[in-house]
Amino acid sequence: MNRGICYNVNVIVSVINGKGIEYHKNVEGKRLSLFKSGGTVDLVINPSNARELSTVLDLLNQFPVPYYVLGNGSNTLIGDKGFRGIIILLSKLNDITFSNNKVLVGAGVKLPYLAHVTSTANLEGLERLSGIPCSIGGATIKNAGCYGVEFGSLISKVLAIKTTNLDYVTIDKALLNYSYRSSNNTFDGLIVTGVELELAPSNKNLREIIEHYAQKRRLSQPNLPSLGSTFIKPSTGISAGYYIDKAGLKGTKIGGAQISEKHANFIVNIGNATSSDYLSLAELATSIVKRKFDIDLTKEIDIIGVNDIEQ
Ligand SMILES: Cc1cc2nc3c(=O)[nH]c(=O)nc-3n(C[C@H](O)[C@H](O)[C@H](O)COP(=O)(O)OP(=O)(O)OC[C@H]3O[C@@H](n4cnc5c(N)ncnc54)[C@H](O)[C@@H]3O)c2cc1C
Repeated sequence: MNRGICYNVNVIVSVINGKGIEYHKNVEGKRLSLFKSGGTVDLVINPSNARELSTVLDLLNQFPVPYYVLGNGSNTLIGDKGFRGIIILLSKLNDITFSNNKVLVGAGVKLPYLAHVTSTANLEGLERLSGIPCSIGGATIKNAGCYGVEFGSLISKVLAIKTTNLDYVTIDKALLNYSYRSSNNTFDGLIVTGVELELAPSNKNLREIIEHYAQKRRLSQPNLPSLGSTFIKPSTGISAGYYIDKAGLKGTKIGGAQISEKHANFIVNIGNATSSDYLSLAELATSIVKRKFDIDLTKEIDIIGVNDIEQ
C-alpha cells in the first residue's frame, strides 16, 4: 500500500474502531463480487446507518483514500491485484417502511427480498425484477431492468448523502434522468441511502407471478457465479448475446472463465476464474464480434482495483 494511503487507512481504522463502526481488514475480492474473483481489498467498512456513513465520509474527506460504494457486487469485478483503498458496504441500511402503496427502503436491501416483502403486502410492481440479485442502491444507480420493467420507473424519490459536504438530499422523481441501464450521472457525488417506491395495490397472486419469472430466468440463465450481462445492448438494439452466439463463442474458455453455454452474454466462473480470465474473455468476444459484424461491444460491468491485463 502507498504510504499516504496506508497512513490514512490506519487513522480511519483507529477512529471508526473507537466509534464502534464495523470494519474488516484485508477482505478477499471473492467475498464481495458475485463473480467470486479478485485480490484483497485493504479495508471494508459496513456502517449501520446514515449517521455512521456520514462519519465515514467525513473521515474520508479529511484523510483521503480511494473508495468505492458496493451494493451486492452483482455488477462489479475486483482486480486480481486487489483494491488499494476502502469499500463501503451498505448492507446494513436495510429498513423497509410502508405507507399505503409507498415503500421507503434502505439502499442495502436486496431486490429479491424486497419483491418478496412487497408481494406479501399485495403491492404490485417488482415481480418481473425479483430475480435480479442486486441491492436497491445498485438497482437505483444502474436502472436495473428486465422483462420490460426498469427499476427507475418505480421510484418516487431517492434519498442520498452528498460526499463533499455530507448534506442529506432528496431527489424527486421529476429530477431523475433514467435511460437504458443508466441514471446518467444524476448520482455523481452522492451515495444513495434509500429510495421511495410507488407500487400499485393488487389482488393478483403476486407470488405466482414472481415464480413465473424465476422459472423463465432458470431456463435462460446459467446457475454459476457471474456478473449478469457482460455487455450492454449495442446501438442496433439487438442483444450483445446474439452477436456473441452468432460468432460461435458460446462455451469458449479462458482459464476458469467461460462464455456461458446457456446465455452468450454471461461470462461464468466454472472454477477458480480470475478477474483477468473474465477480462480476457470479454476482450476476445469484443474483438471477434467487431471483426465479424463490425459491432462495438461496451461492457456493462464496473471494474475496480488492479489487474495484470489492460481493461
Ligand atoms: C445472475 C445475474 C443476473 C442479472 N440480471 C440482471 C437483469 O436482469 N437486469 C439488470 O439490469 N441487471 C442484471 N444483473 C446485473 C446487476 O444485478 C445490476 O447491474 C445491478 O443493478 C447491480 O446492483 P448491485 O447492488 O449488485 O451493484 P454493485 O455491483 O455492488 O455496484 C454497481 C454500481 O452501483 C454503485 N452503487 C451501488 N450501491 C450504491 C449506492 N447505495 N450509492 C451509490 N452508488 C452505489 C457502485 O458503486 C457501482 O458503480 C444481473 C447480475 C447477475 C449476477
